[in-house]
Amino acid sequence: MKASKEKENIKCSFCGRDKQDTAVLIAGINGHICDRCIAQAYQIVNEEFASKQDKNLNQSLNVLKPVEIKTFLNDFVIGQDQAKKVLAVAVYNHFKRLVQKPDEENADVEVEKSNIILVGRTGTGKTLLARTIAKMLNVPFCIADATVLTESGYVGEDVESILSRLLQAADYDQAAAEKGIVFIDEVDKIARKGDNASITRDVSGEGVQQGLLKLLEGSIVNVPPQGGRKHPEQKMVPIDTKNILFLCGGAFDGIEKIIAKRMKKQTIGYASHDDKEDIDEENLLQYISAQDIKNFGLIPELIGRLPVVTHLNPLDAEALKRILTEPKNALTKQYKKLFKMDDIELEIEEPVLDLVVEKAMEFNLGARGLRSICEAILIDAMFELPSSDDKHITITRDYAEDKLSNATISKLKAA
Ligand code: ADP
Repeated sequence: MKASKEKENIKCSFCGRDKQDTAVLIAGINGHICDRCIAQAYQIVNEEFASKQDKNLNQSLNVLKPVEIKTFLNDFVIGQDQAKKVLAVAVYNHFKRLVQKPDEENADVEVEKSNIILVGRTGTGKTLLARTIAKMLNVPFCIADATVLTESGYVGEDVESILSRLLQAADYDQAAAEKGIVFIDEVDKIARKGDNASITRDVSGEGVQQGLLKLLEGSIVNVPPQGGRKHPEQKMVPIDTKNILFLCGGAFDGIEKIIAKRMKKQTIGYASHDDKEDIDEENLLQYISAQDIKNFGLIPELIGRLPVVTHLNPLDAEALKRILTEPKNALTKQYKKLFKMDDIELEIEEPVLDLVVEKAMEFNLGARGLRSICEAILIDAMFELPSSDDKHITITRDYAEDKLSNATISKLKAA
C-alpha cells in the first residue's frame, strides 16, 4: 500500500512538476529530474563552458604578444625568422578575432581570418612551426596531406576528412575543434596541372582546390566523426570553420623560376639598375608573392582565402648543426636521454656533428635527413650497451664514419 502511494507522488526534484506533467522523468539515487530541467541544466553547462573558454582565450591574449610567441618558437625552431614573425602576428590576430566583441564604434568592422601559406623546401621546418604554434596555444591541431585528397566521389579522401581528424584531435569536443589549427601539407601538389611541369601526380587539382575553398572560407561543414566513407550510417557533425586557422605548406618546386621571371619584368619596367643588383638570386623564395602562387597553379579564390604568404629559408650547414644540438628537444638531447635511462653517459664529439651535417647536405633532405643518419651511427650502441657493463660511450668521427660506411645509403636517403 505504502509503495504504490509513493509511486503516485513522484515529482521532479528540481522544479516540482508531477510525473504526469513531464515527458520524461529520470530517477537518480535520491531524486528525479524531468526533461525540461535537463534541457535547462544542459544550457547552463554549455554557457559556463563557453565563458570559461573565452576567459582562457583572453588570458592567452594577455600573456602572448607576438614577440613572446616568436620567443617561444625560438626554443624549438632554428632560424626562419621571417616566417616566425609572420606566424606570430597572424596567430595573435587570430586570437583577437576569437575574442572580438561587436563594439559600438567599430560595429561594422569584422576582423577577417589570416590563413597562411608557408613556402619552403622539404625539411626546413614548416610542419614543425605549425605543430609548435598549436602546442603553445593548447588548441586541437591536425596535419592533413593534400595529396590524398580527391574530389568528392573519387577514390581517396574527401576534404571533409581533414575536419574529422581535427575533431578526433579535439577528443570530439566540437567547440574546441572549431577553434583549432589545421596544417595542410603539400598544398602545391594540388596546383592546376599544365601550369607547372613538375606536377606529375594524378590528383584532381582544381576540384580539390574548390573543395578546400569550402573549408577555408568559413562555412558549416558536415563532418563524418570517424572519417572516411566506410561508415555511411554514421551521424554527421556540423563544424563551423569560421574560426579554424588553416596553415598550408608546400615546397612549390620550380616557383623560383616564376618569381625570377616576375622580378625581371618588374626590374626592367620600373626599377633602377641599383635595385637589380640587390636581388639575392640564391634565395628567391624571400620575394614570393600571391601572384607567383597563382602563376604556379593555385586558383585565385583559394589564394584569396590564404592572404598571408611567407617563406622558409633553405637550411645551411650552420643551421643544421644548430638543429642537432640547440632546440629544446634536439636530436642529440633525445639520444642522451635515451642512454641515460640505462644509466649510460653518451658523449658525441664535435666532429661527429660536422659529419652528420655533411651527409644531410649531401642527401638534400633538409633537417629530415639528420635523424636517419644519427640512427645509423648509434644503432649498434643502442643495441649492445643496455646489456653490457659499459656506462660511458664516446662517439668519435672515426667511429661514426665506420658505422655510416656499413649503413645502406639508399636506406638513409629514403628515411
Ligand atoms: P617540412 O618543412 O618538410 O614540413 P618538418 O617541419 O617536418 O619539415 O621538419 C622535419 C624535421 O626536421 C622536424 O621534425 C625537426 O626535427 C627538423 N627541423 C626542420 N627544420 C627545423 C628548424 N628550422 N629548426 C629545428 N628543427 C627543424
